[in-house]
Amino acid sequence: MTTTTHILGYPRIGEKRELKFAQEKYWRGEIDQTELKKVGAHLRQQNWQVQKEAGLSYATAGDFAWYDHVLTTTLLLGHVPKRHRHGFPDLDTLFRVGRGQSQSACGCHGAAASDMTKWFNTNYHYIVPEFSRDDTFEVSWPQLFEEVNEAIQAGHNVKPVLLGPLSYLYLGKEVEEGFERLTLLPRLLSAYQAILAKLAKQGVTWVQIDEPILALELEKPWLDAFKLAYQVIRSEVKVLLTTYFDAVTDCLERVVALDVDGLHIDLAAAPEQLDEVLALLPAHWVLSVGVVNGRNVWRSDLAAQYQRLLPVKAQLGERLWVASSCSLLHSPVDLDLEPALNEEVRSWLAFAKQKVSEVVLLGRALDGNEDAIAQCAVYSQPIQARKSASHVHKPQVQARVNAISPAFAKRSAPYAQRAAHQAEVLKLPLLPTTTIGSFPQTAEIRVQRSAYRAGQLSQAEYTQALKEHIADAVKRQEALDLDVLVHGEAERNDMVEYFAENLAGFQTTQFGWVQSYGSRCVKPAIVVADIEREQPITVEWSKYAQSLTSKQMKGMLTGPVTILCWTFPREDISRKAIAQQLALALRDEVTDLQQAGINIIQIDEPAIREGLPLKKRDHQAYLDWAVESFRIAAGSAKPETQIHTHMCYSEFNEIIESVAALDADVITIETSRSNMELLKAFEEFNYPNEIGPGVYDIHSPNIPTEEWIVDLIQKAAQKIPLERLWVNPDCGLKTRSWPETEAALANLVAAAKTLRKSLTEV
Ligand code: GLN
Ligand code: ZN
Repeated sequence: MTTTTHILGYPRIGEKRELKFAQEKYWRGEIDQTELKKVGAHLRQQNWQVQKEAGLSYATAGDFAWYDHVLTTTLLLGHVPKRHRHGFPDLDTLFRVGRGQSQSACGCHGAAASDMTKWFNTNYHYIVPEFSRDDTFEVSWPQLFEEVNEAIQAGHNVKPVLLGPLSYLYLGKEVEEGFERLTLLPRLLSAYQAILAKLAKQGVTWVQIDEPILALELEKPWLDAFKLAYQVIRSEVKVLLTTYFDAVTDCLERVVALDVDGLHIDLAAAPEQLDEVLALLPAHWVLSVGVVNGRNVWRSDLAAQYQRLLPVKAQLGERLWVASSCSLLHSPVDLDLEPALNEEVRSWLAFAKQKVSEVVLLGRALDGNEDAIAQCAVYSQPIQARKSASHVHKPQVQARVNAISPAFAKRSAPYAQRAAHQAEVLKLPLLPTTTIGSFPQTAEIRVQRSAYRAGQLSQAEYTQALKEHIADAVKRQEALDLDVLVHGEAERNDMVEYFAENLAGFQTTQFGWVQSYGSRCVKPAIVVADIEREQPITVEWSKYAQSLTSKQMKGMLTGPVTILCWTFPREDISRKAIAQQLALALRDEVTDLQQAGINIIQIDEPAIREGLPLKKRDHQAYLDWAVESFRIAAGSAKPETQIHTHMCYSEFNEIIESVAALDADVITIETSRSNMELLKAFEEFNYPNEIGPGVYDIHSPNIPTEEWIVDLIQKAAQKIPLERLWVNPDCGLKTRSWPETEAALANLVAAAKTLRKSLTEV
């Protein structure tokens, strides 16, 4: 009665981000397609080898992607947006859809990239499929079949993975008015029939079809469509229907009526669904239990999992499959690449490669292998010990969290009173100008940082270099005549990593990269223990910057929710508890900044919307503690200290009440790309405090003209009273160069001055 073991997918980026570097070389024209494809083939072989050597029953194929797996599906289905179709599609077609095509490159009209958006509640982003009424689907792109063949040739027992037809449709959007993309389903299903027929011919017995949308609160027409869809694509290949990121109990009765051969559920995200699923599982189905968390970095408690699954094994026998909860795409590749980690921390963690071994070991234990059972027990010891370790659960941190009272989350005066105090202290003109925090991270800064990290630059030398960058930024801002200055964030590599490195309770890694989108990867820090601020973090920098100018210097912090969302959280305490610990640490920083003479403090929360849970019914509870933790961080500010916050990535409409509930004195937001459309939400809601709608899209190299900015401010002024309006770019400027930054900011300041003048004239 051997237990089948598998994973839903393996990271495609390579141990040292080989795919990223190869892609970028190819895009720069430094290597050709043959060479790029070699890198991909090598990575796939490596990944399958890891799975085989560890002893998984299947090697997963079809999880590799040149840019994004949803985009691969688009190509597979012959569904390239019309503007990108020139002749037979090849790898360049795929890259064009993902990255856009400039005019010069093709000698014809440029063509915009498809939109990109977040993959459920992860930090991975996919390319949004575009649907029009007359779309057709035709299997033309051979990648999947070639890769299945590659795996077979290399002697692997291959299980291909496909994004399911309903999730593919659902995750896309109509690009034409007056039609519903669900009406395309019949045509789409013919393509899926063709895909499955081809896979059958290749000798595939099981295919994994991902339908993650089943974990959402799915609208009825979509749910209704599943039954027929899976009847239509029924073939001789067995189908494992995979769901992840949340429970499927809402629609379980429908799911178990589908014409498939097995179901995968995510027991890391929603462990409570197991019993219900077991009760309804059809007698001939396999159940793949996703117990090894594919999207976090923690070692599984295999001893506990073993105990929990024993009765399930007794009930299901061979029909029990053991798996990762979701694709390992969302976890770093290999813990063995981190020699600098201390042994204790290492014993708490598992990256993708280690997770593969966990799945195998658990499977063996469930098969009654005594050795494996004993190994599971040993493996779990460090996590058991961690539960009562006082350097993880710090009494002093817990005492502070327990002492949080409602007063912590309240400024000492309401906005109207604060605004009056602030006006007196800050003496800002109408339409004050400012920036969002970072200034260009020049090559010089980056070279100095790596030299410092490599030990080639002493602490004193590095500090001196940073001070020079700060002084330079201040001088340039004064020359531009901006009203509220920033120090420029030269000391930060990344707005979250910087705080993670300077707060106790975090562990950073050297190669813990995870794909974010295309060739872009992020390296989230890991929350390993209770979080504490052991000493001030930003105060010296801000104080130094303030000492160089008589204008107001804005302090710059990353908010608790954003730090939480962009790191790997602990699983032994709640997200809310982590956010509270962060909030208290940042609150101390606010106190100290204020003490040091900083009158304006910005607490960035660009990720607040991303943290929303998948199911709408869970939204409010999240928003409540997210808002509360921001307010705790800001709560120590005196009435005359002005608290700013900043958010990007639009779509605030659905959370506008919570944005207002942050009660920041000023919010700066990204609106320039939508031509101030976004302000509608703030207008309709009657947003009470001050707003700086971004008047300059920092993501584009174009320099906005003064007239353009004047026009945007006037548009904004129709919605927000002038006295509450700020003028600023829509995000930080770290990715831009100094010349373009200065040119754009000069126009921004000129626009504000022109408007002030015209207002005093009337
Ligand atoms: N203060 C940060 C910066 O300017 C904000 C970045 C962000 O919103 N993502 O870089
Ligand atoms: Zn931003």
